[in-house]
Amino acid sequence: MKKVISIFILSFIFFSGKEKRNTAVMYKNTVSIIDPNFFTQDRYATYDSIFTQHPQFIAKKFDFPLGKPNAKGYYNAQKFTKNNHLGDDWNGNGGGNSDLGDPIYSIANGYVSFAKDIKGGWGNVIRIIHQYKGKYYESVYAHCQTIKVNKGDLIKKGKLIGAIGNADGKYLAHLHLEIRDNIFMDIGGGYAKKTEGYLDPTKFIQKN
Ligand SMILES: [Zn+2]
Repeated sequence: MKKVISIFILSFIFFSGKEKRNTAVMYKNTVSIIDPNFFTQDRYATYDSIFTQHPQFIAKKFDFPLGKPNAKGYYNAQKFTKNNHLGDDWNGNGGGNSDLGDPIYSIANGYVSFAKDIKGGWGNVIRIIHQYKGKYYESVYAHCQTIKVNKGDLIKKGKLIGAIGNADGKYLAHLHLEIRDNIFMDIGGGYAKKTEGYLDPTKFIQKN
């Protein structure tokens, strides 16, 4: 419902802006009243206000999502960009489904922007927005067996957010983890040649 209302308000602003613009063009021979970055700025503003009100949830450091803090007992079976992979695939050292149901932890403080079963190749997906050093990042955790957080939750680094799953038996259990520096992208396909908007999760966590 909130979404519907914001879409309504945005459309109103957009159309009223357009009308003014037409008026301006007609009567004053002026162009462009609408800031081309209007929508982008507005989308960041939502998160700016969340983290300004709750500064204790601004990220200070990143850890691995399993065997915290350093992925002890797990290995990265398919690294970023291997086979055009857009994330890392974390598996238990025991192999097979030995890691099914193991705990997944938030890699940093942040805001849960999405927590839902979207079926298909993705299954249960958790998306967390992190404000870090004045910039925004998103972490995506996929194929989860269970989800332990809700959209709208503010969480701390190391919080239990779900369990390793297999997307309803589609794969051997593993955690597909993505880190993005464009927080406004769709869920995507998990694989692509173009990596714009995606970061190497392991490198990022090690550096930060
Ligand atoms: Zn994957």
